[in-house]
Amino acid sequence: MYDFINGNEYAPAPESTAIVNIKKKYGLYIGGKWVDAQGKKTFETINPANQQVLSKVADASKADVDAAVKAARKAFEGEWSSISGAERGKYLYRIARILQERSREFAVLESMDGGKPIRESRDIDIPLVAAHFFYYAGWADKLDFAFPGAGIGGQKVKPVGVVGQVIPWNFPLMMAAWKIAPALASGNTVVLKPAETTSLTALLLAEVIEEAGVPAGVVNIVTGAGDTGKFVVGHPDVNKVAFTGSTCVGKHILKSVAGTDKSYTLELGGKAAHIIMDDAAIDQAVEGIVNGIFFNQGHVCCAGSRLLVQEGVADKVVKKLQKRMETLIVGNPLDKNTDIGAINSKEQLAKIKSLVKTATKEGATVWQPGTSVPRKGNFYPPTLILDCAQSHTVVQEEIFGPVLTIQTFRTVNEAVEKANNTQYGLSGGVWSDKGAKVFKLTDNVKAGIMWANTYNAFDPASPFGGFKESGIGREGGLHGLYPYVKFNA
Ligand code: NAD
Ligand code: MN
Repeated sequence: MYDFINGNEYAPAPESTAIVNIKKKYGLYIGGKWVDAQGKKTFETINPANQQVLSKVADASKADVDAAVKAARKAFEGEWSSISGAERGKYLYRIARILQERSREFAVLESMDGGKPIRESRDIDIPLVAAHFFYYAGWADKLDFAFPGAGIGGQKVKPVGVVGQVIPWNFPLMMAAWKIAPALASGNTVVLKPAETTSLTALLLAEVIEEAGVPAGVVNIVTGAGDTGKFVVGHPDVNKVAFTGSTCVGKHILKSVAGTDKSYTLELGGKAAHIIMDDAAIDQAVEGIVNGIFFNQGHVCCAGSRLLVQEGVADKVVKKLQKRMETLIVGNPLDKNTDIGAINSKEQLAKIKSLVKTATKEGATVWQPGTSVPRKGNFYPPTLILDCAQSHTVVQEEIFGPVLTIQTFRTVNEAVEKANNTQYGLSGGVWSDKGAKVFKLTDNVKAGIMWANTYNAFDPASPFGGFKESGIGREGGLHGLYPYVKFNA
């Protein structure tokens, strides 16, 4: 992503914020209209890189969520149910194209509200968001052929109804796309609640949905914190719940849907093992490790947060990794050279600091490069935790920051055992030159996604989701449509 002029690195100016028109205040998007929360309550959303208030956002109450669900029900039973799959597909294609046209605006806003480096929001998040809408647009008119055996005995593929969706702050727009695109493709209507620190791109997406001419009430966006989320998943007229967030909240949601006829998918936390075999291409593996843990400040559910490296190459890998980490730039998310942006919130920064402290208390060694870190704003340097044991808190618990634990192993079996020894089972990675080793590891590590000789590679056609306490159900690909359809005569 660098421009080279006569061999010298040319550092472009930070991305201009003038491209986005951030309103002073945002309402809720309900039934195709922008409305205040009924009690007029609002909360502030800030830029975590400088603590500046960006805007005020409506805080939706139970009554607001009820209004949103009613609007979604009305749209589901009215106009939306009478249009063909091909027509629904057209709306999704339109959304995808407008997203591409307005991608710079979205990228800048995503980085301002959430803290991620502009290089990532511009080159990864927003393009993947558009790709997701394009992908599901393609399925909208093919549902009758999508599910093997579904047509037998006169069964028809039907939407489940009104879906309540709650998403986290780490990939705000991407998570909104993962939720909304398959729901609409299969004919459902939506009430979506973004995370409280990153509501702005979901609200801008509502504008795009409006611009695309999607009928009123098909997509409703309600902003607020945990209580608003509770009202969405707990609403009796919601047919399906889709949640992405922490395992802790996921367990509460599972309890709240128990005994109801709501269907649900839960995409929860992770603590992925990133396994380096001694025959791996070390330089590439080091780049993979860096991408695996420092992408999006490590605020990634599938982050390669536990490095497992085979004893014979452990010293070499750690030395090369440390050398590479000395070059990482921590700072202004809007600077195109930034590698690690701002930590999403003060709370998250405090959590990272406290877990790293625990590591020292439990006997591990903390290593950080000499990188300078801005004093103002929420920043944390890339960090390694050496000399750790499987029982250490930092090896077992999700840190959700730029912090990598390092352990060694001797045999493939030992790597598998260590990789599986957590409550999570979302993702993992393996670097090896030998196909047999790759397959032995990818077959035996209990994780929904395994990458080989790459990491954090995403594609809308590929299903994503966890085993164990990392969740239930899949998003993406054809698998991602199953939770949004039912098979009836
Ligand atoms: P979180 O669970 O605190 O919050 C997620 C969302 O749930 C937010 O919108 C929040 O307002 C809402 N919420 C909070 N309490 C609620 C309740 N009782 N009922 C309903 N909604 C409630 O998670 P977070 O801190 O925003 O996100 C980080 C977590 O998300 C990490 O654990 C990460 O691994 C996970 N995550 C998982 C995936 C995946 O696909 N598996 C993807 C991204 C993030
Ligand atoms: Mn914010």
